[in-house]
Amino acid sequence: MTVLAGAISDKYELVVGLEVHAQLSTLSKAFSSDSAAFGAKPNHHISPISLGHPGTLPRINKRMVEYAVKMGIACNSTINLNNTFARKNYFYADLPKGFQTTQDQQPICLHGFVPVRLSDGSVKNIAIHHIHMEDDAGKSMHDNHSEDSLIDLNRAGVPLIEIVTEPDMRSSEEAGHFLTETRKLLRYLDICDGNMEEGSMRCDANISVRIKGATTYGNRCEVKNLNSIRNVQRAIEHEFVRQVNIIEAGGRIDQNTLNFNADTGETSVLRSKEMANDYRYFPEPDLQPLFLDEAYLLNIKQAMPALPNELYKKYIAELSLSDYDASVITADRDLALFFEELIKHTSNYKSAVHLLMGPFKSHLNEHGISISEIKVKPEHFAGLIQLVDNGKINNTVATHKLFPALLASPEKNATQLATELNLLISDDGGDLSRYISDAIAKYPDKVIEYQKGKKGVLGLFMGEIMKSSKGKIDPQKTNLLLIKELEAK
Ligand code: ADP
Ligand code: MG
Repeated sequence: MTVLAGAISDKYELVVGLEVHAQLSTLSKAFSSDSAAFGAKPNHHISPISLGHPGTLPRINKRMVEYAVKMGIACNSTINLNNTFARKNYFYADLPKGFQTTQDQQPICLHGFVPVRLSDGSVKNIAIHHIHMEDDAGKSMHDNHSEDSLIDLNRAGVPLIEIVTEPDMRSSEEAGHFLTETRKLLRYLDICDGNMEEGSMRCDANISVRIKGATTYGNRCEVKNLNSIRNVQRAIEHEFVRQVNIIEAGGRIDQNTLNFNADTGETSVLRSKEMANDYRYFPEPDLQPLFLDEAYLLNIKQAMPALPNELYKKYIAELSLSDYDASVITADRDLALFFEELIKHTSNYKSAVHLLMGPFKSHLNEHGISISEIKVKPEHFAGLIQLVDNGKINNTVATHKLFPALLASPEKNATQLATELNLLISDDGGDLSRYISDAIAKYPDKVIEYQKGKKGVLGLFMGEIMKSSKGKIDPQKTNLLLIKELEAK
């Protein structure tokens, strides 16, 4: 591929619109009572409905509708009260019905936007065109057998929402941020696990280029099979260069559907683009229109959890966290929920963040476990923070001794454990004076250096005191007393 010179890339603008499919984590399928669970033996979660037998009648899964409405509210969309379903006709081996049940004219959510924070700190609203409900196809597997392709219909009929953006993104960075935010919303709402590698969130990227300042869009290509956010970005970057090179060489962009090869980072033509009329959409005759009302929407709205953007703003405005801390805490739903519990029991927000980002995260990483496996109640971690704040235990001892002890005995509180393990700083001033005078006596030459102005030796004395006291001292208080002693010599 020709390398793109800077001047040429400056002449063109990238235009990206995304279509995101999210598999909804309902118990049963979109239009039947078959289990929608992942991981069963092939073709075990099927019935005459998912097998597409003639004469079977679909029924709408209420949970699917509720989840779609939740996502619409989270994306600032208008919820359509009068929904209809349509058939989108395909002939695929893993689609025994011969059509996908989807929404065409009357999708459940219209318009809306997802705000994304870019690396320069600015916020851009990525406009949503609409969100619709549909069912998934089965899975064809081409690699499991030497000669034949195998088909597993467990996934046939599993509910999806498709989130379609306007062609609003202008860089792969923006597309990456949009996907990260969308995935966060799905996870905070607990309606999809957002796992792109496993296919529960899938993304097609529509990409075109145009001369900067142009008012109409160029022809676009749609890239499929993107199984990570990084690969979506790689495909976008690749297409930008490829399309600009074609146009610069006097060619034109054909509106094709492309495949992305993650090994080479290149795209290739999968098929020429179908037009909407190739699908022969028509209203689904077996499903009644779905009417929703305002009371139903209000109920859902009132039961919505706090969303990442709200929490981010709250952490900055009310807890005075830094932009970085607020972003890290809200990036992960479970972490944010844990933090929310923790700050019910402590008002030292900064220390709460440090505890979670430091020892807490290291523990999760080292043991490869998730937050749900942590048995310690947030108030016990708050107890640890309080002991440090009250000068009852020093920070290093809290992190290296008390924190692991809490994890090992989740039924005990911080004070109890610190007492049992003899980690508390003794209030007896006598002990502290003894540690200080012992340290001073051990290094008489360093005392002279200190008096000659070499203040750096304080660290040596502090280290010695730490060691002899096993960390059971209040560093600030000790520091002050130590200086007093050294100056009095
Ligand atoms: P289709 O139904 O054929 O897939 P749509 O008009 O619904 O086409 O658009 C699908 C996606 O393509 C949307 O996400 C939209 O933002 C995006 N899109 C449309 N035109 C362009 C373009 N010229 N460049 C990039 N993306 C585009
Ligand atoms: Mg499309």
